[in-house]
Amino acid sequence: KTTTKGKPKWLRVKLPTGGNYKSVRKLVDNYNLHTICESGHCPNMGECWGAGTATFMIAGNTCTRSCGFCNVATGRPDSIDWDEPERVARSVRLMKVKHCVLTSVDRDDLADGGSILWAETVKAVRRMSPGTTMETLIPDFQGIKRNIDRIVEANPEIVSHNMETVKRLTRKVRIQAKYDRSLEVLRYLKERGIHRTKSGIMLGLGETEEEVIEAMRDLREANVDIITLGQYLQPTPKHLPVVNFIEPEQFDKYKEIGLEMGFRYVESGPLVRSSYHAEKHLV
Ligand code: SF4
Ligand code: SF4
Repeated sequence: KTTTKGKPKWLRVKLPTGGNYKSVRKLVDNYNLHTICESGHCPNMGECWGAGTATFMIAGNTCTRSCGFCNVATGRPDSIDWDEPERVARSVRLMKVKHCVLTSVDRDDLADGGSILWAETVKAVRRMSPGTTMETLIPDFQGIKRNIDRIVEANPEIVSHNMETVKRLTRKVRIQAKYDRSLEVLRYLKERGIHRTKSGIMLGLGETEEEVIEAMRDLREANVDIITLGQYLQPTPKHLPVVNFIEPEQFDKYKEIGLEMGFRYVESGPLVRSSYHAEKHLV
């Protein structure tokens, strides 16, 4: 089994550089701002912050779910902090974020699934930074439409929900989630008039090429516009192992297949994370 040891050369982390990166870095340090880019040790920080993109996680640091690939703590989450929308919005403004990706833990403990906080956050960012575009990377809200509707009404530029893996591996990778329910969420978002919907799949968990193509086809049938495909990396030894490292050429092949299927944008490569190059997904 392969872990981070013996990582192929194409997964080497790129060193953060660039003037814009440095100025954002300074603001983050000075104001004690919090991003998932940093807490997740994302390898793309130099590039994303340089391009004015950053990801913020809302609704706390503890998740009610326990996906096998995810390094967020599982447990009983804290109560919702209603000052958070203002705080996130202030960070977005201070960091001069041009394209803001918002994501959250799953809040299955709450009747609204956290959707009210979600909507308040989108509105606060809009109010403080009217020129900033937004992507909301949302949970499945257990498929509850009135909760999804709050996101639709807040009207972010992109709404994403990640499938994370192929159908067969969903139970292993996202134990509390359901493949078909996630597809339904994406389909519903489009039906409700969201202009750009997006989803992501991690590769290297033991899926076959056929299964990846099947997942892509299912996403296209749910009218999803944008997909991201990236290499899964094991965050700690307690998480699901990496079964294999997908070659860059294979990622290119998926990109071609995806574009042929009619996706508006396909982001496919070893270092791709769901929010990588997110500003380019405003197609
Ligand atoms: Fe942040 Fe996402 Fe870019 Fe990583 S890929 S630096 S998490 S915006
Ligand atoms: Fe992590 Fe999201 Fe799964 Fe929670 S629902 S464990 S935050 S991937």
